[in-house]
Amino acid sequence: MLVDADLHIHSHYSKAVSKLMAFPILADNAKLKGLGIVGTGDILNPHWEKELLKAAKKVDEGTYEIKGVRFLLTAEVEDNKRVHHLLIFPSLSAVREMREALKPYSKDIESEGRSHVNLSAAEIADLANDMDVLIGPAHAFTPWTSLYKGYNSLKEAYGDAKIHFLELGLSADSYMADRIKAHHKLTYLSNSDAHSPMPHRLGREFNRFEIQEATFEEVRKTILKRGGRKIVLNAGLDPRLGKYHLTACSKCYTKYKLEDARRLNWRCEVCGGIIKKGVHDRILELADTDERPKDRPPYLHLAPLAEIISMVIGKGVETKAVKSIWERLLREFGSEIAVLVDVPVKNIAELVGEEVAKAVWAFRKEKLIVIPGGGGKYGEIKLPDEIKNAKLEEIESVEIKQENVYYKPKQSSILSFLKKT
Ligand SMILES: [Zn+2]
Ligand SMILES: [Zn+2]
Repeated sequence: MLVDADLHIHSHYSKAVSKLMAFPILADNAKLKGLGIVGTGDILNPHWEKELLKAAKKVDEGTYEIKGVRFLLTAEVEDNKRVHHLLIFPSLSAVREMREALKPYSKDIESEGRSHVNLSAAEIADLANDMDVLIGPAHAFTPWTSLYKGYNSLKEAYGDAKIHFLELGLSADSYMADRIKAHHKLTYLSNSDAHSPMPHRLGREFNRFEIQEATFEEVRKTILKRGGRKIVLNAGLDPRLGKYHLTACSKCYTKYKLEDARRLNWRCEVCGGIIKKGVHDRILELADTDERPKDRPPYLHLAPLAEIISMVIGKGVETKAVKSIWERLLREFGSEIAVLVDVPVKNIAELVGEEVAKAVWAFRKEKLIVIPGGGGKYGEIKLPDEIKNAKLEEIESVEIKQENVYYKPKQSSILSFLKKT
């Protein structure tokens, strides 16, 4: 069976996370989004563990279920260099064992969702390996709290300790990550890192697993590439929409070329703020190959449907107006992916009007204008005027001036992977 999974989110115990990040709401929204598996996130926090046990029924040691959605036990920890690591646990007893092991090194493991631990990446990975916990770098390339902020290679970070996957993060995709040869043997995970259950956050990145059943054990085999299980698709934001895609000022978001940022000693010449190196530039610095591993699944670039609707109707992405159109589409056509990729645009037009239909068409044809993100500000999408002003029947023949001056990420041919069986 094919199961869409989002393995990295945060609970309301983490800083800057929505109060709505509670299990029953998560389960409802995951279902609407078409996710069969969600990571609990923050499970090292004992209060969050209690909330899970209250809401969920146990399927097996490492798998829980709420309203038909399966939850795996996951958490993110921050190491002594402020680098983030994602953990996937085989059981609650492993969670508790890890909590006890980390307690002497952490002041906030019982209160925070994403705890800070005064251990190195290698020490945390050693502990994980001892307890059969899967571990890998979270959002590996972002400029604040990622592996490639703190280190220049996996080896430098983890030493000889084994890691099992690499999480791409919103500002990168598999094409970018494959520019580094040492990644080729690793499974990539594309997860949302959602801080809110809203439809443009939860599941905005996900992995499509081909597995026997939706359990930890099956996911583990897949990540370790055992028994013919595999990830058949990584889906996620167009990396240009990520907040750290290009090098930019973290205060006023002015974008910089890498050489200019260096010349200015990483101080913004507009406002004096700190310039943050974008993922795009960071990967180019580290790139050592143009080859790609043969078993790498395709990567589907997405824009959240709620953001497409918001762009069209000119209302905020979290407003009722956007949510109600989004829900009508999902109830009629089953899943967000179906609407974004499969459903004929004329059916979308019949249900919610031509404007949204034209925008979905433009997304499919990669004709949306993308203003890349950077410095902590998400990228934006815009509908070209030529499409906005055309009738639905004419859009195929509309000519669009290419306003997008930035590079275009490669899109593989993915349509054949999208039919759920
Ligand atoms: Zn993180
Ligand atoms: Zn600035």
